[in-house]
Amino acid sequence: MKGRAAALRTALAGCCLILLAACLLFAAGCGRGADAEAEQLQVHFLDVGQADAALLQYKGQHMLIDTGDVDGRSALVQRLKEKGVHTLDVVLISHPHGDHLGGMAALFDQFHIKQIYDNGQESRTAMYKNYVKNIVRKKISYKALKRGDKVTFAGDVVCHVLWPAAEGAAAMTASESGRTNNQSVVCKIAFGSFSVLFTGDAQREAEEQILRHVRRNDLKATILKAGHHGSKTSSSPAFIEAVRPEAVVVSCGAGNSYGFPHTAVLAALKKQKADVYRTDRDGAISVVSDGRGYTVIKER
Ligand SMILES: [Zn+2]
Repeated sequence: MKGRAAALRTALAGCCLILLAACLLFAAGCGRGADAEAEQLQVHFLDVGQADAALLQYKGQHMLIDTGDVDGRSALVQRLKEKGVHTLDVVLISHPHGDHLGGMAALFDQFHIKQIYDNGQESRTAMYKNYVKNIVRKKISYKALKRGDKVTFAGDVVCHVLWPAAEGAAAMTASESGRTNNQSVVCKIAFGSFSVLFTGDAQREAEEQILRHVRRNDLKATILKAGHHGSKTSSSPAFIEAVRPEAVVVSCGAGNSYGFPHTAVLAALKKQKADVYRTDRDGAISVVSDGRGYTVIKER
């Protein structure tokens, strides 16, 4: 009996050791999986209706480019929390129109914000005044971006600012709204050989200036966020040809009253043979890159 009990104890101890080793191996595997995920740049073009908001995640840090509109505030907060965001390391506002700045008031309340960039353009709206008041009250680091500025995100991701120009508004249009659009921050996010060009609502006049002043290599990007939600006031054939995107994301609302994206823009993108993704049809669009290749994941 004594021998059998000892054998049983030995067998049990053996089983425990095997189980422990399996657990350790599994935990190590999970760790590697999580590490590998954190090493990839994730760019989420959020579905915020007729507006813009894109979340960049890399090595546990979070950067938001534009914040959607006022009516999408609570949905934006929910999406960010679902993606594990507690701190926004960088928020970049392309220009102070409501469909880009509108979510900001909720973000001040719900997240710790470390750094804010915008195009330095002031606005008379209560929304803008509240935005400035919050930056001052919360002592958030702030800088207005100009062409030539370089912002580093999480060490390896570099944001090259291509527009607006430091010398002021050279890109004119008749409407005040168009002039504001044309001061949008246009920036190229580069991670290894992968890149995304964010254009805010920059229109053709700004695109012409960018084509005139920015070297083609600096403008070329893997992914392009179509300017001004796919409006024909942006995405001129010359600009699309210079950027040479493999894929284009249009951030626009389902059944929007403007008819975005316009057929002329879709035709120019087709000519470029770029894959087109639209938040109105695809929902949120996520692009994941290791700095070389990339994968696009559609929400629907
Ligand atoms: Zn807009």
